[in-house]
Amino acid sequence: MPVKHVTPEEFKKEVVAPGAKERFLVKIGETSTGSEVAIPVVVVRGQKDGPTVLITAGQHAEETGSIDAVKRFGGQLTPEEVSGTVVVVPLQNAPAWIHRSRLYPFDAPTVTDIGSLPRGEAGGVMTARVLYALVDCIAANANFALDVHGTHLDSMNYPRTMTIITGDEPPEVHEKRLELSRKVGYEVIHLWKVPSGRGGLTPILNSRGCPTIAIEAGEGWRNLEPFPSILIRGIRNFCKAVGALSGELEMPSLQVEVTRRVEITANHGGLSNLFVMPGQYVRAGEVVGQIRDMFDDVLEELKTPINGLIIRCSLLPTVATGARLCNVSETDIGEKWEKRVIPELEKQITLSGTHRPRK
Ligand SMILES: [Zn+2]
Repeated sequence: MPVKHVTPEEFKKEVVAPGAKERFLVKIGETSTGSEVAIPVVVVRGQKDGPTVLITAGQHAEETGSIDAVKRFGGQLTPEEVSGTVVVVPLQNAPAWIHRSRLYPFDAPTVTDIGSLPRGEAGGVMTARVLYALVDCIAANANFALDVHGTHLDSMNYPRTMTIITGDEPPEVHEKRLELSRKVGYEVIHLWKVPSGRGGLTPILNSRGCPTIAIEAGEGWRNLEPFPSILIRGIRNFCKAVGALSGELEMPSLQVEVTRRVEITANHGGLSNLFVMPGQYVRAGEVVGQIRDMFDDVLEELKTPINGLIIRCSLLPTVATGARLCNVSETDIGEKWEKRVIPELEKQITLSGTHRPRK
């Protein structure tokens, strides 16, 4: 299938015919060698009327599993199954990807996250140009959007919906997002309250009246199963929930909403042994890991201060002061969680060699 090379403004004017699927590379700029830096976009338009849905990944270019999931979803999607239009962006932060980096390292004076910019800027630093292309051109006609994430390079994340709530969302957008957050079908729904005025793709699209949520699962820099399949299941559920795809939603037996999250960080440097894994329920006071020195003496035992679910675990044992071992999302769901029927794909999540406390 041919690929059209276009500028962001040219992409905005493109009209994909009903029943067609087209590929684009939307040029953001050039590297220092003059090579093109471009965002890949796939547009799939059905014959039937329906919404325009934006599916994105790769805001953080280290989140390979989510990039793979959106790439696979876009590759498989056909006009025959779509009502309306699905716009698929597997890699937003193409300039960062080139450097195998979470963020584009050459923005001056400060390396910038797409999610921290108040707005896109056509003539700004590289990351501001990416956000401009995304929100002002690629997402210009979106009615609904889903942003897909993985995790930081050192860790593994249990699947969850992330519903960033700034308070700036119009009420009808907020209500729709809460509904979509459940229907995307993950067991954990993180209602994530952040200060008003926050930028980035999700808050900008929400404030514009386009209900946008995020999902997250996986390991940094890896695309091992079952994570890409778990993310594809969520993407398809989202598209079904907004009417772009037909079929039944794949829902879990239990869903839990969480708001408060506590990071458990090391005070001492050394080697860590983690006693928990993503998706595990822990109770206040439970030891989640140890830090030992090179003589194998225990320097520190780290305990969870709250009841809750372990969502992210660090997989790298080299620990300095402040290193994040894991996080806990507060809930008292307890036994109900431990006795639930785990979804088939989530059952396959393993963390080889999770340590058990030793004397
Ligand atoms: Zn991310």
